Amino acid sequence: MIAIHFNFIAYMKKTTQLYEGKAKKVFLTDDADLVIQEFKDDATAFNNKKKGSIAEKGVVNNAISSKLFTLLESNGIRTHFVEKLSDRDMLCRFLDIIKVEVVVRNIAAGSLVKRYGFSEGTVLENPIVELYLKNDDLDDPLMNEAHAVALGVATFEELAVLKNRAEAINMLLKTFFAERKLKLVDFKLEFGRHNQEILLGDEISPDTCRFWDLETNEKMDKDRFRFDLGGVEDAYSEVQRRVLELD
Ligand code: UDP
Repeated sequence: MIAIHFNFIAYMKKTTQLYEGKAKKVFLTDDADLVIQEFKDDATAFNNKKKGSIAEKGVVNNAISSKLFTLLESNGIRTHFVEKLSDRDMLCRFLDIIKVEVVVRNIAAGSLVKRYGFSEGTVLENPIVELYLKNDDLDDPLMNEAHAVALGVATFEELAVLKNRAEAINMLLKTFFAERKLKLVDFKLEFGRHNQEILLGDEISPDTCRFWDLETNEKMDKDRFRFDLGGVEDAYSEVQRRVLELD
């Protein structure tokens, strides 16, 4: 008998728009368990105070994120990623998003420099994991576990899982990027609840990570947009090239 295999997932269509964020739209599908993330070219920085657009960013970030989620899944990290559907669309499991942004830092940059006076580029012997409340109206304030639990956004047990998961992801990604001659300076992760499990959500891209060239320390991420350094599109596509080409 000839087995005919229909890839139903590939035909998954967007229905109602659930949400529009700064860099992505999220759509419901006919399957209550699945959503489609559409990656946009819009770029914002400094909590929406700076707005613009980066040509083809959505396509690049979808490609990079899809590759990185696949890498993490193959190393035992559960994520919301199901399949890259097209240039800008990613099929994902529907998460109950935990309103905590988990930032992991290997090298001092950004708000760590501003807040604590580190010199930019200081290598942190032990990676620093920070928690921020995901709340634009409050400018995503830095918080600790007790704040998060008091606010009712997560339990202590969930926060312990988030921290362990973030550290494991950091180990995998640091090695992956070092092989591609990029330093993983810092990055932000978001997680969500799905059938009694916690899955990694959102995206992993030059919008949410800092990457510096291993040899020149050139910035190859959203800092080029934040600080008008020029060459934003080139930096994003060079990260894409290094992530996708070296397999
Ligand atoms: N980050 C992010 N979204 C945010 C805040 C931070 O993706 O809302 C990422 C940022 O790109 C960087 C890391 O998290 O890779 C640490 O950011 P930082 O706290 O230094 O803040 P920023 O300099 O972005 O204000």
